[in-house]
Amino acid sequence: MIIDFHTHTFPEKIAAGAIDKLSHTSHSRALTDGTENGLLAHMRMSGVTHSVILPVATAARQVPRINDASARLNEARGGEGLISFASMHPDFANVREELVRVRDLGFRGIKIHPVYQGANLDGPAFLRILEICAELGLLVVTHAGLDIGFPGVVRAAPSMALHALRELKNGRASRMREGGSLYPEKEREASMEAGLQTAAKALSEIGCSPSRTPAENGGFRLILAHMGGWRNWEEVAILAQSLCEAGPVMIDTAFSTGAFPPLDDGYWKEEETKMLGKRAFVSIIRAFGAHRVLFGSDAPWGSQKDTLDFVEETDLTETEKAFILWKNAERLLGNNVTSHSRAKHSLFGTGR
Ligand SMILES: [Zn+2]
Repeated sequence: MIIDFHTHTFPEKIAAGAIDKLSHTSHSRALTDGTENGLLAHMRMSGVTHSVILPVATAARQVPRINDASARLNEARGGEGLISFASMHPDFANVREELVRVRDLGFRGIKIHPVYQGANLDGPAFLRILEICAELGLLVVTHAGLDIGFPGVVRAAPSMALHALRELKNGRASRMREGGSLYPEKEREASMEAGLQTAAKALSEIGCSPSRTPAENGGFRLILAHMGGWRNWEEVAILAQSLCEAGPVMIDTAFSTGAFPPLDDGYWKEEETKMLGKRAFVSIIRAFGAHRVLFGSDAPWGSQKDTLDFVEETDLTETEKAFILWKNAERLLGNNVTSHSRAKHSLFGTGR
């Protein structure tokens, strides 16, 4: 079994347009056509058995529609190894209500993207979302670091992730909203006390000593994509220990290894497409501990096959590789990794 914790697909009707638009914004080349079938073909070619799909709502009004479509995707294609997360947006009005619905629909977590969604990861809107996810036991995958499509925009730096985790741990996320008018009264009352207490309890139980695996802890994790922060890797390395001490943090390997595939428009010089080399990659993983790292490719923007080969070719131990490539993910996803797909994929000889 190989689980890719960071992929993207788009609804059939808009896939071609979305891929075209996003590849021109980032001047990078897509490696699938953006559809579910395109991802499945890429998975088969790469030897990946399960892909977690992370939908991004770029406007608040899209959230329920995206979540409905993602629930249908899970229903229809969960057996093929596609596992979609839900989405949330910092401007969404009924956050608690929608996140409860997300949990009840069987989602294991949500994706947020501070850069695309125009708010800081450690600002009040995202803190509120994180706090409710901690209470409900939902995983949160956040874009972290810079974004290739928005040069210079800082909304999810590693220091901001650290600040967010500390605010959550200290229970200040709720208190800082008191007296503010950011949220409707009813919603605020409902969440404040219960949310604060449950989140604080869940978070305080989570130590960061390497001997404790995530399975022993509560359901919430803050998963920082792109090795903790795209092209903020020096800061990630410096803050790794503090991040681990501040709360239940994990990182994924998406779009961070080797070099990214540039569009043939001459925008990127070859030198500029280079990301982490093997030594830096391994040292960041060791700083967090392999039990806090998830394999992710960012397909269609990164290749599952190349990312997998990259991990395999490092001098991480076999045990570390197993944690990264499937064990951590399987533990986090629980029932969402269906026995059906497991059995089916073992026919292809990719089971490990
Ligand atoms: Zn991504």
